[in-house]
Amino acid sequence: MISLKEALKLSADEISALRAELKDKILKTKELGAYVEQLTGEALNVSGEGVPIAIKDNIQVKNWNVTSASKILQGYVAPYDATVIKKLRERGLAPFGRTNMDEFAMGSTTESSFYGKTLNPTDHSRVPGGSSGGSAAAVAANIAVAALGSDTGGSIRQPAAFCGCVGFKPSYGRVSRYGLAAYSSSLDQIGPITRSVEDAAILYDIIAGRDEMDSTSYAGAYESTADKLNADRKLKIAVIKNYIDEASQQVKEALSLSIEKLKSFGHEIVYRDLCSSKYDIATYYIIATAEASANLSRYDGVRYGNRAKALNLKELYANTRGEGFGDEVKRRMLLGTFVLSSGYYDAYYIKAQKARAFIKSEYEEILKDADLIFMPIAPGVAYKFGELSDPLRAYLSDIYTIGVNLAGLPAISVPVAKNKEALNISAQLIGRAYDEQTVLDGGLSLEKIVKG
Ligand code: GLN
Repeated sequence: MISLKEALKLSADEISALRAELKDKILKTKELGAYVEQLTGEALNVSGEGVPIAIKDNIQVKNWNVTSASKILQGYVAPYDATVIKKLRERGLAPFGRTNMDEFAMGSTTESSFYGKTLNPTDHSRVPGGSSGGSAAAVAANIAVAALGSDTGGSIRQPAAFCGCVGFKPSYGRVSRYGLAAYSSSLDQIGPITRSVEDAAILYDIIAGRDEMDSTSYAGAYESTADKLNADRKLKIAVIKNYIDEASQQVKEALSLSIEKLKSFGHEIVYRDLCSSKYDIATYYIIATAEASANLSRYDGVRYGNRAKALNLKELYANTRGEGFGDEVKRRMLLGTFVLSSGYYDAYYIKAQKARAFIKSEYEEILKDADLIFMPIAPGVAYKFGELSDPLRAYLSDIYTIGVNLAGLPAISVPVAKNKEALNISAQLIGRAYDEQTVLDGGLSLEKIVKG
């Protein structure tokens, strides 16, 4: 499959041919379930004529049925384009297919989708990761030129890692969230999933920038990155030693080898520990569920999507949500409502906000002295289906990705090795807030070094 860089140079006729070829391939790879349309059998959603970009099912595309892979949003039709979609169109790209995901982006395996499973292209008995599992599987299986995902606690970086592609989460506020179905508004960020770091920079440049429609979007100056990419810049990289020590043997070995290669290339390596790690999971799952319980309260059967049968208003809410939300979403609504309820608010929610400030300061402290942080993405390789069915185990598996969202930093996941079964292992590079350029430069350097 052609790179995004090359696709952007094609003539109108060549783009039409590419779209036809892609459509045909998507039809022929139904078993993957990377696209919602592959799972439902409906015609592929396409809109406009440009270079095709696959879109996670939680980003609004005007006139598309956009559902966050939830039963509660079946039948909902998006009335407007998200800002990222508007920006794609302005640059001659076009949304092409809805990618599968965990329901409302809550999960790490894409197994909680209302539509069913997405398979990992490398090994069909394994998950593609999540929650943007469909986007990552489509890119890795060469049935997308590039894709958009969203990352609240790792959902771009981790599926990219499990499928062997590149996932880039920009700093909080760099990309407008207008038109993204809100999960946890202070953590959510849209970003690219691609086959190379260069393509990630190109797609990031297209979607980034201040947006009047999103008051949390970053107001500072924005500079393009792809035209300035520099793999030869020598950087000071802080390796998080306690995180690498805690990972599985195969991740430890792969990352240690990458560190040696980074060193011999001329990057300066220093070793640091992140002591806040023992608070990350609790802090994230209090803040994310609290915000989610407020955000998802809009799905009440009155305004959006599915409405259940009911005799009165209370029953309407209860039946619509009871029938429409899956188990994981319900679990998080209960948790989020609990931590925000009077009497528990101070003990949980306020404490989590303080812990968040502490976690952020620890990352910032390390990044005062180092250009980048280097650490794993996940404790191991892609899970077998069902392996992560215990919710607590699933939450713990997010340990390496959620701190970045709590701190609002940019981070990239880059494939560095394959294990004996050809399953992918990636490394993560994290940079200072709004310094996407250094993350992409470091990512490009790492990508080149591991390819040899
Ligand atoms: N796995 C994390 C969660 O379930 C992250 C999800 C995400 O980034 N959207 O919340």
